[in-house]
Order: sequence, then C-alpha cells, then structure tokens
Amino acid sequence: MKPLQELVRPNIWALAPYSSARNEYAGREARVFLDANENPYHQPYNRYPDPLQLELKAAVSKVKGVPVEQIFLGNGSDEAIDLPYRCFCRPGGPDNVVAIEPTYGMYKVCADINDVEYRPVLLDEHYQITAERLLEATDQHTKLIWLCSPNNPTGNSLNRDEIVKVIEQFEGIVIVDEAYSDFSQQKPLRLELDKYPNLIVLNTLSKAWGCAAIRLGMAFASADIVALFNKVKYPYNINLLTQQQALETLKDPFETDRWVKLLLQERSRLMEAFMQLPICQQVFPTDANFFLARMTDAQAIYDYLVDRGIIVRNRHRIQLCENCLRITIGTKSENNELLAALRQWQ
Ligand SMILES: *Cc1c(COP(=O)(O)O)cnc(C)c1O
Repeated sequence: MKPLQELVRPNIWALAPYSSARNEYAGREARVFLDANENPYHQPYNRYPDPLQLELKAAVSKVKGVPVEQIFLGNGSDEAIDLPYRCFCRPGGPDNVVAIEPTYGMYKVCADINDVEYRPVLLDEHYQITAERLLEATDQHTKLIWLCSPNNPTGNSLNRDEIVKVIEQFEGIVIVDEAYSDFSQQKPLRLELDKYPNLIVLNTLSKAWGCAAIRLGMAFASADIVALFNKVKYPYNINLLTQQQALETLKDPFETDRWVKLLLQERSRLMEAFMQLPICQQVFPTDANFFLARMTDAQAIYDYLVDRGIIVRNRHRIQLCENCLRITIGTKSENNELLAALRQWQ
C-alpha cells in the first residue's frame, strides 16, 4: 500500500474538522450543559447525540469482533460508500476507481456524484473475478477497487483467494462490501483487518438484522482510515433514535440468527421450486438472502407479477443478467404467493 498521505486528497489531509461544543471539554465530568444552544427541556431528544457513537460502537465491537477504533458508523452503508470518494478521489480527475460489473449500483452513483471516473470490469460467466483482470484495469491514478461478496445482484461469493490477491497487490484502497455476509458460511474479511491496512469492509443492519428503516451502515478499517472518515463525516451523522434502536437490536443477536436460519431454509425451498417451473431456465448459486433466476421472458413475468401485487427485482437490462429476476426471500406465505402466481403463468 502507498502511504495514506499519498492516497488522500490534499485538501482532506489538511482539513481542520468541525469542532463541536461537546468535543472541546474533552471527556471531563460535567453536569450543566450551557454550551450547545440546546433547549434544556424535552429530554432526551433535546441534546445532540454522541458524534462518535461510542456506546453503540462498543456493542458493534462485541458482535462483530472488531475493535472500537476500527469501526466507523454511517447513515446507512450509503454514507460509507460515499466517504471513500470524498476522502481519496479528486472530483474531475485525474483519480479513478475500478469495480466489478455487475454489482451494487451505489458505487457508480457515488462516483458520478463525486465526478470520479468509474472503471467497470466484467465478471466471467460464473460471476467470478480474477485479481489479474481487475489489476489490469488500474493505473497510477486508481485510488479505490470496489468488490462485493456475496455480490448483489448475482448472489454468489467472490473467490476469496482472488480477493486476497487484489488486496495484497493493489497499492490503493480495496473496499469489500459484505452486506450479506450474515447469510454466508465464508469467513468474513473484517476479521483480517490487521493484516491489510488498505482494506475497508462494509456491513449493514439493513439485511439480516432487519433494520433497513433506521439507516445504520458500518465500515471496518484501520484506525487511520476510520479517523479520516470521522474527520470528513457530518458531526452528528447517526441520530439518537437510530443509536438507541441499534443498541436494542444488537442486544439480541440470537434473534437475527433465528431469522437467518429461517430465511436460508426458505431460500432452498424456493430455489428448488423455481427449478421445477417451466418458465425458469436457471437458478444461480447464492450466499445471500436472495437469488438470481434466469427466466424465459423476465420482463413479461415481472409485469405479470406486478399486476398481481408481487414485486421482484427485474435485472433483465443488467449486463450478464439477461432475462434474470432477483428474488428476495420473504416469509413463508409471501414465498408461497409468489410460487402460486408463477405456477399459474400461461
Ligand atoms: C442492501 C445493500 C447495502 C445496504 O445499504 P444500506 O445503505 O446500509 O441500507 C449495502 N451494500 C449492498 C451490496 C447491498 O445490497
């Protein structure tokens, strides 16, 4: 890896971050808060929340096995996807990023918003990568490589040896989005951060943890990268309600385990049923709470399902996903409704 200072945008390296009222007395005991122009009434909503979310990070640390100083919490993964661009990539050039294709759409949206060149590298016919092909797409101005494993929308995990090769051989930052790792048997990369100073791993409460509404994303990285994110983020990026609800949810990881088990059972059942459907040509292997299925006519089947109030994700227009629908695993009765509708297709 290049020294961090060489990778970071010069204005960000030099940035003097906003110093909030609560930063300045630096942790000493206090009882009377007349510093932040808050209203003294309407507890607890009257007070600004902890800008570094230390109580919540301690809970995340316990569940995820990552030390507090290597945790960044964002307003959804969206914030953790945007921040690497803002920290490392100069808008308008010359910096660029490399990513697998197809993958999650936000990596490219954030590149476009930040006016950064985005270089997609097509997966092979098994939706796999090689380190060599990805590294070939880089040049001296490549700051970031985006990987997603298990990948969205394909569902499969990327070959771990190839991911590791990319991390070891690339001089810039490698981001591995493990939003679906809770559903996968693969060993998560967040447990290997100490080996890889250029690695950022993303997680979220939006999928297995059942908390998409509260918007809580996580980035795990070296303490230096986390410090950089903390400098650039909005001061109070995680609101109090989200911090409180996330703490509640993390208290019961066994509930999440139960959901995951149930969803994986339903996933097997649904995939087997799809393979029996005359209108389904192929079901792709998955490590996530969804699967990709190649249909005879994805657009027509999608429209037919919408007419019956059942919404799946039409990925027909995505490269390598021609005639594919992406099916999220729902409750047993939701899955049965989907199957019943598809069996009635004429
Ligand atoms: C759903 C998803 C996320 C989650 O995004 P949030 O902003 O945390 O809700 C992140 N990455 C991928 C690949 C996803 O599919």
